[in-house]
Amino acid sequence: MKPGLAICRWTRRAVGATAVVLSLLLLVLSLIGWNRSGHVGDVLTFQYGPEGGEFPWRGIGLAHAGGDGHLYYIRQNRPLAKERWSYHAIPANIPIHQNVAGKIHGPGGYGWQHWEYRAGVMARVVDGIIVPYWLLSIVFALVPAWWLKRWRRRRREAQRERKGLCPLCGYDLRASPERCPECGATAEAQT
Ligand SMILES: [Zn+2]
Repeated sequence: MKPGLAICRWTRRAVGATAVVLSLLLLVLSLIGWNRSGHVGDVLTFQYGPEGGEFPWRGIGLAHAGGDGHLYYIRQNRPLAKERWSYHAIPANIPIHQNVAGKIHGPGGYGWQHWEYRAGVMARVVDGIIVPYWLLSIVFALVPAWWLKRWRRRRREAQRERKGLCPLCGYDLRASPERCPECGATAEAQT
């Protein structure tokens, strides 16, 4: 094998392994969050500023309740809170997409949220995304599921090869090791 090919294969494996580990981690986090959002509604906001412009105070927030996750960005004309990090609890029995302010653009009440609020000296703009935890869990399960499927296929192929069977179709190759008479796989393609 050429060294370039080996490096290419190694890089592909490293990227694949990273994707699997990262997806598994995100899957576990979304399952934990899903479970917790049914018992406790959490709202955590990180504030920064003042920046320039009409809304010098900015914040990035994460919230969940009732099986929904919510990621949002707030711009405000005055500080959001006293501290850089702020937390408060919300009802866990109401899904966020049924309880959130502003308009949500997307199917089933999920998707992009946009909210502009002005009252007296107060002005605020919120942009966010609201996603159900079940959808996040499916998305994060895809890569590990694909990896598991491939691992099982490779294990089956290795077992067949040890027994002298065609790794692709399982036909007995002891009489014809060069080429499978059943599916046409050659010895080169099999290894
Ligand atoms: Zn075969």
